[in-house]
Amino acid sequence: MEKLIAGYKKFRSEVYPEKQDLFQQLAQSQNPQALFLTCSDSRIVPDLVLQTGPGDLFHCRDVGNIVPPYGEMPGGVSATIEYAVSVLKVRHFIICGHSDCGAMKGLLNHRSLDSLPNAASWLRFSRPALETIEKTLGPEASYDQRLQTLIRANVVRQMEHARTHPSVAAALASGQLLLHGWTYDIPHGIVEAFHPESSQFLSLDQMPLPVHAK
Ligand SMILES: [Zn+2]
Repeated sequence: MEKLIAGYKKFRSEVYPEKQDLFQQLAQSQNPQALFLTCSDSRIVPDLVLQTGPGDLFHCRDVGNIVPPYGEMPGGVSATIEYAVSVLKVRHFIICGHSDCGAMKGLLNHRSLDSLPNAASWLRFSRPALETIEKTLGPEASYDQRLQTLIRANVVRQMEHARTHPSVAAALASGQLLLHGWTYDIPHGIVEAFHPESSQFLSLDQMPLPVHAK
């Protein structure tokens, strides 16, 4: 806790005075350019990786960066998506997985979920991704290979779930919104993005800049 209080004191004495104008500007409204949905994992700090700040990203975080399909579980994630897309009219919806994800490791090792009924139930929305990789990877695949493949397959699966939300489907159809699937590699600080044409993840800085239909 001391670290947190010391950080707050530093924010009040150094950061806030420097950014006071920005905070005043943001006091009454926000116009974030993207909805950023990622895992709750403490090692992912989107504003650090993307060098964004207050007002830039609308955040949604949950274990496993999961988007329940529309109608299956009305809750915080669905409400956040609806508000970001329909009210704030964000231009981008980014779903970001990450290396060493505890949720994906839990999926690969069912026994570790035995005492975590809520996590086990929540992770059912990632199970189709696990089934997909089990079909494509042979029995000789290593644990690391399976984990890395699952992390990516889960992002692609959650993108499919996102499209089932009427707000997202309508915004994609009208050209307001673009949907992106990313993964973040913690030890190397590298972001890769899903490239739909090749069905592969490519380094984000090598991807063509996404263009809206209008
Ligand atoms: Zn995670």
